[in-house]
Amino acid sequence: LRTSPARRPRMTVLRFDNVSKQYPGGHAALADVSFSVAAGEMLFITGHSGAGKSTLLKLIQLAERPSRGAVLFSERNLLKVRGGRIAHHRRNVGVVYQNHQLLMDRSVAENVALPLVLRGMRRGEIGKRVRSILDRLGLAPRERALPSQLSAGEQQRVGIARAVIAEPAMLVADEPTGNLDPTLSAEIMALFASLPERGTSVLVASHDLGLVKRMRKRVLVLDHGQLVDDISPEDLADE
Ligand code: ADP
Repeated sequence: LRTSPARRPRMTVLRFDNVSKQYPGGHAALADVSFSVAAGEMLFITGHSGAGKSTLLKLIQLAERPSRGAVLFSERNLLKVRGGRIAHHRRNVGVVYQNHQLLMDRSVAENVALPLVLRGMRRGEIGKRVRSILDRLGLAPRERALPSQLSAGEQQRVGIARAVIAEPAMLVADEPTGNLDPTLSAEIMALFASLPERGTSVLVASHDLGLVKRMRKRVLVLDHGQLVDDISPEDLADE
């Protein structure tokens, strides 16, 4: 008897187990937060400014450590990931920044190739992968352009291409549409939504509740560091 792929339970890629984060000075940025993310799932995290969204993303990238509780990534407790293993872990987490942090004196293709160059991949293989991702993101005609010659939306797409080129298990994005107008924001969100088809889980932090709701994906809601809601796409459809 064969089970269809859709019925097979999906692996958990990320799990927060009663995670609290207290910054020096005693401020609680996250309080007892628990949730998990399946491989290939897309979800949003929303909440007021200062609710703890960035802190949550930083714990996944190991830019911060929890004060209590555990963050598990592909079943591994990140507490045990130290020293040289941190860089290794970060290869599995693609990061998209609000202001994309592109190298301004390098072409689009060179910017996107960077993560593969850094891990010593062969040039021929890099070229193939870069062409493929630029094609998918509609950037092929701009491959030789410098970032300064691109529109804001194109620059953000280059940032996304660079974040996914090494096929990370998870992509995290902190307010990726913060500098874009509503039309471009919707386009970029649609692009994120297409990534899980390739097996990459996507976690997007955004305070733009209207935009988030229109995407009809799972939404985690933070309020003063507490996870106060975990809304499924079906429930969003009812609102
Ligand atoms: P959000 O991304 O939702 O705006 P943050 O995670 O940036 O929220 O911040 C959550 C809380 O933690 C805020 O009160 C913020 O002031 C505080 N905070 C964030 N980073 C630091 C830090 N490095 N040191 C001290 N407090 C911080």
